[in-house]
Amino acid sequence: MGNVPSAVKHCLSYQQLLREHLWIGDTAAGALDPAQAFLLINLYCFKPTSGSSVSWAAVTCISLESTRLSGLPEYVKIVEVGPRDGLQNEKVIVPTDIKIEFINQLSQTGLSVIEVTSFVSSRWVPQMADHTEVMKGIRQYPGVRYPVLTPNLQGFHRAVAAGATEISVFGAASESFSKKNINCSIEESMGKFEEVVKSARHMNIPARGYVSCALGCPYEGSITPQKVTEVSKRLYGMGCYEISLGDTIGVGTPGSMKKLLESVMKELPPGALAVHCHDTYGQALANILTALQMGINVVDSAVSGLGGCPYAKGASGNVATEDLIYMLNGLGLNTGVNLYKVMEAGDYICKAVNKTTNSKVARASFSV
Ligand SMILES: [Zn+2]
Repeated sequence: MGNVPSAVKHCLSYQQLLREHLWIGDTAAGALDPAQAFLLINLYCFKPTSGSSVSWAAVTCISLESTRLSGLPEYVKIVEVGPRDGLQNEKVIVPTDIKIEFINQLSQTGLSVIEVTSFVSSRWVPQMADHTEVMKGIRQYPGVRYPVLTPNLQGFHRAVAAGATEISVFGAASESFSKKNINCSIEESMGKFEEVVKSARHMNIPARGYVSCALGCPYEGSITPQKVTEVSKRLYGMGCYEISLGDTIGVGTPGSMKKLLESVMKELPPGALAVHCHDTYGQALANILTALQMGINVVDSAVSGLGGCPYAKGASGNVATEDLIYMLNGLGLNTGVNLYKVMEAGDYICKAVNKTTNSKVARASFSV
């Protein structure tokens, strides 16, 4: 390696490790469990470059034991929102065949839920105008669910006709955001969602509910946990099996996340909740860790941190799936997702849309 600085050597070792050991983060039979994978990552990444008699395996074992946090779930379900939430915020229209290939790649990573598209009017969201073609064009792998966003009954029927077997409705805890984003008041939106969720239930189609602006609104500023709880309760009450609490503008902190969950969990069981964190202020992983410690085990994320943030120019978007998996692997938690394969899918979509990844893990591993 000649004069390559040691920091770069670490990255190269990690990249090499991932390339050679595809099972990292994979729970397939015979694979190492995440704790063992973490041990190996540490062995490769933190091995001193000069000779040392210290047993690094022992050091790593000790550090793994002493850093394991209490109260964490053993398994975390990752809901991949890159193809919908992520690409929806990309300005350049992504060709349909690229979206389909991207989703097919994601389907082979071990992810169990991939949000595919949105059956919204192309007038409002031109990026999602090809929703039917995408839904029909993807290969649906066994064991993977492919929810789509359906803002109203018309969108719902189109989604079902295109083969959707799971849907989501997208509400807000902020009155101003609801009016600007979905063009109606919170109360009016609840009426529409009730129709959609009722129809879905009649057809045995599971429905998920989003509550955006759960930790702050670009128009109103802070949003009270009580308001978020109220909207979450409505969505859960109408039959949504899971409520995803979205920090849409990424202003939350572990402190505000804790207050929010304390309020919502008085009304809803933790098993019915998910968190959806944006990384605008660099707080996403800390907020997710806080939620995990409070009993939440469903986390939304987007490959490569796709999406950006339409309310803060140049800011980061969704938390990157790669960074989330890296953290969860490091905590010894099971996700069933192969980090390297996710990084490959992220690399594919970034090259296809000509953008740089927002994943720090992908940058450290691929950009050397
Ligand atoms: Zn998002």
